Order: sequence, then C-alpha cells, then structure tokens
Amino acid sequence: MKRISWIIFFVILMLLMTFVLISTTAASPVNPEKGPPDFNKIVFVHYPKEMAPGKPEGTPGKVPQEGAFIYSGYHWPDATVVNYYINPSEHGDYVTEDDLIQGIQSGFQVWEDEPGSDIDFYFKGVNTELEISSLSNSMDGNNVVGWADISNYPNAIAVTQFWYNIKTKEVIEIDLALNSNTFFSWRQNPSIDSWTSGDSLTSYDVDVQNIVAHEAGHWLVLDDLYADSNIDNTMYGYSDEKELIKRDLAPGDIAGIQTIYPVQISGQTIMHVGKITMTYSTGGANYFINTEVTVVDEKNMPVPAAIVYVDTTSLDGALTSSSVETNAQGVAIFKLKSKQIGEYTSTVMNVTKDEWTYNPGNDAAPSFTIPVP
Ligand SMILES: [Zn+2]
Repeated sequence: MKRISWIIFFVILMLLMTFVLISTTAASPVNPEKGPPDFNKIVFVHYPKEMAPGKPEGTPGKVPQEGAFIYSGYHWPDATVVNYYINPSEHGDYVTEDDLIQGIQSGFQVWEDEPGSDIDFYFKGVNTELEISSLSNSMDGNNVVGWADISNYPNAIAVTQFWYNIKTKEVIEIDLALNSNTFFSWRQNPSIDSWTSGDSLTSYDVDVQNIVAHEAGHWLVLDDLYADSNIDNTMYGYSDEKELIKRDLAPGDIAGIQTIYPVQISGQTIMHVGKITMTYSTGGANYFINTEVTVVDEKNMPVPAAIVYVDTTSLDGALTSSSVETNAQGVAIFKLKSKQIGEYTSTVMNVTKDEWTYNPGNDAAPSFTIPVP
C-alpha cells in the first residue's frame, strides 16, 4: 500500500510539473503555432525541383510573364537596415568556411546592388553561438543564416521563416536555415568546372550564393514564382542541382524590390503638383485664360522658385508651351490671351528645381480643362 501511494504521489507531482511547464510556455512571448495575438510566422520552403512534394498550396494559377513578381504584402519598416549573423557551424566540409560565408554575403548583396531600390542588408559577423530560433518557433532578436537539421521539411534545400506584426504586416525577425544533411554538398562555386563531388546519387551539389540570393528575396518579402515562364527568375520556387542562374536578378525580381522599397534619392527633396486650376475673364473680343499650378513638397507645404512647364491646348488644337516660376505661395500663374472659344486644357509637363525631384506620381491631377465661355 505504501508503495502504491508513493506512485500516486509521483504521478500527481508529474502532472503538476507538466501543468506548470505548459503555463510557462503559454506565458512566454512566443507561443508555438498560434503565437501571441500580435505576431505570427510565415515559412518559405525551397525544394529541388525533382524532389518537391508537389505544387505548393496557394500557387497562383497565372503569373505575368514579363517582369513577374509576387509581393506578399509583408515588408520591413521604412529605412530599416536588415542585419544578419552567419552561423556556419554545421556547413559540412566540402569547401572552406570562408568561401561559404562569402557566398552568403554575395547572395544578399545582389539585391542591395540594384540601384532602383532602397535595400540595405548588413552582415553583423560570424556567431557560432546563435540558434536559428524560428526553427523552434521562437524569436531571439537576431536574424540568423546558418546550417541546421531541417528534416521537418523532407528534402528541402533551405527554409526561410519570418515573424511579422499582424496589424502592420511589418517584419520583426527572420531566419534562414540551410539543410545541414550531408546529402547536400554546399559550395561557393566560382565556375561550373569546379563541381567535383562524385556520386550524384548520394550527394546533391548546391551553390550557396544561388540559394541565398533566392532566400534573400523572401527576406524582402517576395513570394515564390512557379510558372514555367519564370524559370529564369531568382524567385522561381525550385532549384536544380549545380544551378547558378538565381545569382543574378531577372527583370521581374528587380521590378519586385523597386515596388516594395522604392529608392529615396539622398539629399534630394520630393515635390509634386498639389493643385491645378483654370479660370478665364473677358476683355473686348479677347478671352484671358489663366492656369494656376501649385507645387508642394511631401508635407504639402508650398515650394517657391520651382519652374513649372505647362502645355495649353484649345479646341482648334493650338498648343502653347510655357514655363513660369512659382511664387512664395508655391503658385505658378500662366496667362494666355485668345479669341478662340471652346474648351482649353492645361497639362503640367514638368517641374524642376535644383536639389529637388519631381514625382508626377503624387500629382493631385496632371491637367485641368475649362470651357470658354
Ligand atoms: Zn522560395
């Protein structure tokens, strides 16, 4: 009897400890699977084409062929530098660690080098202490690239996982796990001739720069493309053995990052047309047609001393091109004398000012039309 009561005591104790552990887990900042209310996680898995488990769910049926990209809607906060550490511990021994670290940096750099977009990846250094925390469903405050056991995703070459804020869709933390299984022989390959591993049945040659260039696209956050027409894109969702084509961005990849992170021209201020209006008055047989263009900055404050170029057409097609400088209120006033009746249309063709950039995309309206009389 005494022995049975001890057993019961231990069973109760174990149950209590389990309960305490569960409570602790639930109270921690990141709850596996569901996560706390404000955060969630998305996973991108990259497979060899011939070993993929099938067309991934949610694959879009149609992708435009030229300039194709799919923007997930998730993004880094404005002006963020995306820092990352490399933990090369489990990389295998096919090539030297330095080569692989260089290959990872080059994979990120190809996106940063694109002049049409504003992206800044920063390599913080090698750190062999850091875990790829997202693999255990947690955040540790570090973005880490490293080799790891990703057998939860059978045959996958690499897995990128990122945490985001549900309300803002802003990325909080991201990790990239490269498959440490020795089946994959990771290289930083200078040329196709240097692929040297023997038996392709027992190993699969992978260029680290090729794969990281693709995964860095997910870091930004572009989605995979699966249409055959997108096979040359860095964001094409599969890779082949010994593949190098993802190292260079295709037009679609470039269009993608330019859309998500448009370049801010440093040292320049951006202006646009805040308002364009037309009025007219009569004097004898003449009509005096006035066009007023207001130029403003990004905070809608008037921009004086900007040169505004306007074309004005009348019903008979007569074209008047002129340029006028904005006054202290940011307004350029164009005066036209005419005997012609009918509609007049004024269109802003350009706005210039030293050290300023005109962004017509922000214009309230590019033109104005008025009937006379
Ligand atoms: Zn992918």
